[in-house]
Amino acid sequence: MGDRLSLSADIGPDVVACDRRHVWHPFAQMREYWALPPLVIAGGQGGWLIDADGRRYLDGNASIWTNVHGHRDPELDAALRSQLDAVAHTTLLGHTHGPAAELAAELAREAPPGLGRVFFTDNGAGAVEVALKQSFQYWQLAGRPEKTGVIGMQGAYHGDTFGAMSAGDSGFFHGRFRPWCFAAEHFPAPRCREFGGVIRESDAEASLAALRRLLGREASRTACLVLEPSIQGAAGMRLQPPGFSRAVAELCAEHEVHLILDEVFTGFGRLGPVLVCREEGVRPDFLCLAKGLAAGYLPLAATLARDEIHDAFLGSYASGRTFFHGHTFAGNPLACAVALASLRKLRARIADGALARLAACFGREVAKLDGHPHVAELRQRGFAAAVDLRRADGAAYAPELRAGLRVCLRAREHGLILRPLVDSLLLVPPLCLSESELAELVLRARRAIDDTLPGLNEKNAFNP
Ligand SMILES: *Cc1c(COP(=O)(O)O)cnc(C)c1O
Repeated sequence: MGDRLSLSADIGPDVVACDRRHVWHPFAQMREYWALPPLVIAGGQGGWLIDADGRRYLDGNASIWTNVHGHRDPELDAALRSQLDAVAHTTLLGHTHGPAAELAAELAREAPPGLGRVFFTDNGAGAVEVALKQSFQYWQLAGRPEKTGVIGMQGAYHGDTFGAMSAGDSGFFHGRFRPWCFAAEHFPAPRCREFGGVIRESDAEASLAALRRLLGREASRTACLVLEPSIQGAAGMRLQPPGFSRAVAELCAEHEVHLILDEVFTGFGRLGPVLVCREEGVRPDFLCLAKGLAAGYLPLAATLARDEIHDAFLGSYASGRTFFHGHTFAGNPLACAVALASLRKLRARIADGALARLAACFGREVAKLDGHPHVAELRQRGFAAAVDLRRADGAAYAPELRAGLRVCLRAREHGLILRPLVDSLLLVPPLCLSESELAELVLRARRAIDDTLPGLNEKNAFNP
């Protein structure tokens, strides 16, 4: 902390004033946001972010779970600049360009066999919407128009657009929009607790039995099931036992229901491999990718579909089989160029074991929080961890205390950027941190907990 870097960006004095006056921030109670000390990020380097005063922070949430190789990675920067010398944007509507075509081929190569068609968009919710709509239309084209239903898992988060909200089950974020959502069924999530590479508790039987019953009843009317494999990120890093997504895939296949895997969070090294489905031996019908796809540099998303599904859309223009969906910036060349460079780099880091070693190190560091009087539960897999906070007497904090937010604000003073999920700390580092930086990240989080929670009581309501 404290070492200053010279910044290339020219930060005027009125950033904070303009922000306060004009920016409506995502997922923010604006009154609370205005009451907090402003943080203006002016630069980044590797796993660090640098504010307008030159203070350095570990990027403990990988710039909202997107960053893979760090900020200003020389290879990614070079790929971006080189594409910029060719063209910044050109559409995929009606023609193509090198980076999108090449990236589509590379993604098909990474995916389980048969997922050969790549539909580009620019955000994760969009990637899920595309899979939902393709599944819906497919069943009509296949002469089974009654298959319109959607199944999701309880607690799932697939993004904030209406289709993604409907398939998801995030009452806290989306409950009020239910009347505008389409009806979907949700089956219970399994239980699994793992950290430091050890499964401490796990039970999938009840969840799979409920799904089996649901499919037995609804499959003939159901188009697809959407699942975040291995880990539900935004639900608070809720883990599934190994083999769970495979069991779900088998049930879907048995009942002729499309399986949509949402690897928006889990893909691109977050849990170790490029894709979790490949590792788990699952072949979905659709695969949704976003967040780490363009390494946290630019918005890019993709929906991979099985070749037979794509082929069912073929016909004359007049046949009406066309998939009428598209986004203006789908498959932006700059983003695709970065994604290609990122994938090359990621494959090398997986192949030489570097990523696995770092994930194991992160697990060991997180495990050191086990038994802390203010830690109710830990969950960690790969480069994703949740630290559930509690009072020393074991009870939960009253929501108005904003315990999680306070710990994150204190962490900022220790040079660490974190974002809480209510009273869970979510630790999601970029994959480029060294072993000592990973240790430092967990240590700074612990210091923030120790500074904040012992003295926090009901007299400290946080109500700006
Ligand atoms: C973040 C996320 C999304 C939504 O992605 P956006 O790019 O924010 O729309 C969808 N699914 C999962 C699993 C996510 O983590």
